Amino acid sequence: QLGGTMEDTIAAIATAYGEGGIGIIRISGPEAKSILDKLFIPKNLEITEHIANRRLYYGNVVDKAKNQRIDEVLAVFMNGPRTYTAEDVAEIYCHGSIISLRKILDLALQHGARLAEKGEFTKRAFLNGRLDLTQAEAVIDVIRAKTEKGFHVAVDQMEGALSEKIRSLRSIIMDLLVDVTVNLDYPDEDIEELTYDALEKSLMLINDNIDRLLATADTGRIIREGLHVAIIGKPNVGKSSLMNALLKESRAIVTEIPGTTRDTIEEVLTIQDIPVRLVDTAGIRETEDVIEKIGIEKSKESFNKADLVIFMIDGSRPLSEEDFRIINHIDDNKTIVMINKTDLGQTVSDQEIKSLLPGAATIKAAIREDKGIEELEQKILSLVYGGKVKQEESLLITNVRHYNLLRSAKEASKDALDMARNREALDFIEVDIKRCWELLGEIIGDSVTEDIIDQVFERFCLGK
Ligand code: GDP
Ligand code: ZN
Repeated sequence: QLGGTMEDTIAAIATAYGEGGIGIIRISGPEAKSILDKLFIPKNLEITEHIANRRLYYGNVVDKAKNQRIDEVLAVFMNGPRTYTAEDVAEIYCHGSIISLRKILDLALQHGARLAEKGEFTKRAFLNGRLDLTQAEAVIDVIRAKTEKGFHVAVDQMEGALSEKIRSLRSIIMDLLVDVTVNLDYPDEDIEELTYDALEKSLMLINDNIDRLLATADTGRIIREGLHVAIIGKPNVGKSSLMNALLKESRAIVTEIPGTTRDTIEEVLTIQDIPVRLVDTAGIRETEDVIEKIGIEKSKESFNKADLVIFMIDGSRPLSEEDFRIINHIDDNKTIVMINKTDLGQTVSDQEIKSLLPGAATIKAAIREDKGIEELEQKILSLVYGGKVKQEESLLITNVRHYNLLRSAKEASKDALDMARNREALDFIEVDIKRCWELLGEIIGDSVTEDIIDQVFERFCLGK
């Protein structure tokens, strides 16, 4: 079995560090009750009475050895398995002072608890079978969600939406696998023969299902990490003005999204709940530019990384050499050209842009007069949802681990399908079907190695 013994009792501060109204110490494991008894004295409780299961008590945390009261608290004991970790759990709600929290935690450790590792409570919930791996992974996404949409997707995953999908897919594969095996092992018996046509049909269905999940990954990544947008343009065309206009509109300014490097200066904002990372590749904030300063190579790198490039020009004047230099380096298929300053007259026409950058969308804008911003937001949104994934859809692949496993599973099922089409031997096909089934199993945590489990929970915070 995984994870070794869980015979020890763990404790940690479960709430965020800093000042707060209350703070919570969580203790989980076989000694949870006895540790609580040692450090907590309830008020208004007869000496002979015991702390009852799932009841909230008011009282004091006391360091009995030093005869010292630590804090006035509420405390609860919940016996397993219907708890977060599926073990016995005690929770102490104290004042949210780091001093109180640390002292109570120290007491719990003195009375036999071990300091929990990052994510260890959730890891126990997984090892005890209360959550599968995708659900456990979703816990951290819920905690870290910075947009409503991201939160919604994570909560659904935590409740098992993705697991359910994977399980139903696996059961289809298992049925097929049984058919194949029976046909291989008992070819002469009086069983229904599995024809290649039927096999092909089943494998096609499996393939389609995996494909459909994979297709959600682009949107999933954007929901989780944000859409990478680079604004580019020569100095003085209005880039900073656009940036400010977008930031002003953005309701909840996202401050930090984990899992991504901050190697460029960027602003994060939301457009209708889609996190957008505006990357300063081209002097978003500087007045003097860019292309020269950071060099063509570096700029090109940023364009390549960006999901979307907003190329801004001063539409009231003819295109200049600097504009052409940029035009020569951008991928028109992911570019929106903002023809700005049209309030001063439009010298550069849409047609001219179309002939230079056939794949690009154009927007006639006058940022100073707030013209073109709404259209830009609409274009960004349609790019994210692109008709492929509906906005209401919440079963999205947001996790790279899941994505990679799905990709491999898809390869296996595709190989099996190709072999079935070529009428190759069943026992070869069986190997790939089995592999597909196993890879999907790894997503939900069936047959994963301890290494992978450790990697998953390393991403967690302390106390969760
Ligand atoms: P950046 O260097 O590309 O970031 O350009 P800025 O945003 O700093 O703008 C340069 C100048 O152009 C500022 O004086 C802006 O007020 C002005 N500007 C920006 N947008 C418009 C516009 O739509 N029309 C006009 N007439 N001026 C604009
Ligand atoms: Zn600027």
